[in-house]
Amino acid sequence: MIPFNKPYLTGKETLYIEEAVRSGKISGNGAFTKKCQQFFEETYRFKKCLLTTSCTDALEMAAILCNIGPGDEVIVPSYTFVSTALAFVRQGAKIIFADSSSDQPNIDENLIEPLITQKTKAIVLVHYAGVACNMDIIMEIAGKHNLIVIEDAAQAIDSFYVDKNGKKRALGSIGHLAAFSFHETKNIISGEGGMLCVNDERFIKRSEIIWEKGTNRAEFFRGEVNKYGWVDTGSSFLPSEIIAAFLWAQIENLDNIQKKRAQIWNTYNSGLRLLEENRFIFLPKIPEYATNNAHMFYIICSSLKERTELINFLRSNNILSVFHYLSLYKSEFYQNKYDGKPLQYSDFYEDRLLRLPLYYELSEENVNLIIEKIKIFFQK
Ligand SMILES: *Cc1c(COP(=O)(O)O)cnc(C)c1O
Repeated sequence: MIPFNKPYLTGKETLYIEEAVRSGKISGNGAFTKKCQQFFEETYRFKKCLLTTSCTDALEMAAILCNIGPGDEVIVPSYTFVSTALAFVRQGAKIIFADSSSDQPNIDENLIEPLITQKTKAIVLVHYAGVACNMDIIMEIAGKHNLIVIEDAAQAIDSFYVDKNGKKRALGSIGHLAAFSFHETKNIISGEGGMLCVNDERFIKRSEIIWEKGTNRAEFFRGEVNKYGWVDTGSSFLPSEIIAAFLWAQIENLDNIQKKRAQIWNTYNSGLRLLEENRFIFLPKIPEYATNNAHMFYIICSSLKERTELINFLRSNNILSVFHYLSLYKSEFYQNKYDGKPLQYSDFYEDRLLRLPLYYELSEENVNLIIEKIKIFFQK
């Protein structure tokens, strides 16, 4: 059976975990945490990075930092993972769901402005499949209405946006705040894990406090204050050094991992092009302003029925492919709170998008086998 995903281990994970354990410091914010954070800050020009136990946690920190509360509205895409909305719902926000574009699953930037009201506080974006949203337009709208932009960059490590001046900027470095995931399904992993990036200076000091249970412990350990105590709200958002040690082994192999994923992505893309030309399927669109971090390879089928048949056909050939998000505006938890219109493109991707296996150890031979099987399915 070809699985949909297989977590890749670089071989150094247990070595670094052992190093962390032997050092005697296994709680959070130790040497490995600092190394990881510094790597991301220097490589991608994030102003301040804080490792978290998940992307969900990083989004919760973002919601606290924005002072979101009852009566506030937050604009969130409907075609995304639950956490993108949930983190803000927990703070009491009302979610205003936005639709995807017709040609790719990211939020349609042209639909954002009409959703803004006096109560809107923030816009949350998802760079789906690691492909950038149209950030110039979104940041301009946010600036005009004084809104905070949070990038859910869970899938977007090592991916970039080319701005209107031709400057290449890392995803996660453009919004005021951003959240990444190192869940085992992402490009680099630590089992569970995530990171908050703070790009707006005004949030930096408070982010460290919220991270460490509402205390100014981080300042104390830097010698900036002579005692530490309870100064704000927060939680225990920081991961242990064991997690950070694992992540460091992955970071060391980031280039290698990205190269391999890109190869697989490109093989799918060229191998399936003829099917797109013959209008059987659509392939992912990478806008001119976006790079591709090969987080995911998906195809768009012509109906829910056809997608279901293709999933079953591939499974009968020992290949596991999977659909993705269910429209959040129609979810069991939110549908009775949602007072907007049906979102046609969110539903479109819910029904038709199909993800193909993509992981480091997937062989070229198996990628070609998957392509062949898909071609056979459409020849029938
Ligand atoms: C994976 C993912 C998350 C959740 O990440 P966790 O680290 O599991 O909390 C959130 N948003 C998006 C878009 C994701 O892909």
